[in-house]
Amino acid sequence: MQVSSTGSATAIGRRGFILILSSPSGAGKTTLTRAVAGDPKWGLDLSISVTTRQRRPSEIDGKHYQFIDREAFDALRSADNLLEWAEVHGNFYGTPRKPVERVLGAGRDMIFDIDYQGTRQVRAKLADDVVTVFILPPSLAELRHRLERRAEDSPDTIEKRLANARMEIQRWSEYDYVIVNDDLDDAFRSLEGILIAERLKRDRRTGLTPFVEGLLAEPD
Ligand code: ADP
Ligand code: 5GP
Repeated sequence: MQVSSTGSATAIGRRGFILILSSPSGAGKTTLTRAVAGDPKWGLDLSISVTTRQRRPSEIDGKHYQFIDREAFDALRSADNLLEWAEVHGNFYGTPRKPVERVLGAGRDMIFDIDYQGTRQVRAKLADDVVTVFILPPSLAELRHRLERRAEDSPDTIEKRLANARMEIQRWSEYDYVIVNDDLDDAFRSLEGILIAERLKRDRRTGLTPFVEGLLAEPD
């Protein structure tokens, strides 16, 4: 699967991977996910989840989520059309399987904004082709401010999300990388650094052996 090549006679490529971002609600994973997926220089496909949650005023069906009812969700699940799924804050969420297979099959990378339960399922299925990042808020007080400033959820929903935050934060140690999202630009640069490093990982790359053999066969 070819992702990139050099100008030399031997092409260097690599397998695509899934970059997962998780965090307690309000820590900024959607902002970071959308920023990196929206920058064409990274060539990342964004996974659009299905959810039974109510659409927020700013959200567009098919862009932020596919909003479906419980019956449609159960049908997708029964037909094994979801790579993973979970109940989060009383709603159901899942990752459609087919787009993931298409993107990875083409050797490209995909970014997921999913919770720790889904992360466990994806890791169990795709092991080495999964990179996980946990986003922490600088403080719980700031987490509350962000949820309130976002002003897209009812006060009840915000309280439910804050009540779940302590439990979700405790999952941080299951992740490969941890970013404290204090300054957004710094957090974004950290995420870019992870992408750059993971794309250079030797184990995921193809064509390195013949490339090096070619180098060594060159005359002095
Ligand atoms: P999540 O997807 O984790 O629930 P969002 O990405 O929706 O969180 O961010 C929650 C709110 O906080 C949004 O209004 C977003 O603009 C804001 N936000 C995200 N990162 C920062 C940051 N570093 N500093 C201040 N506000 C932020
Ligand atoms: P929100 O309702 O704020 O968009 O998302 C709530 C939580 O559900 C977040 O932790 C988010 O990462 C998670 N989530 C969103 N989509 C999926 C998904 O497809 N699968 C799983 N497991 N979690 C998801």
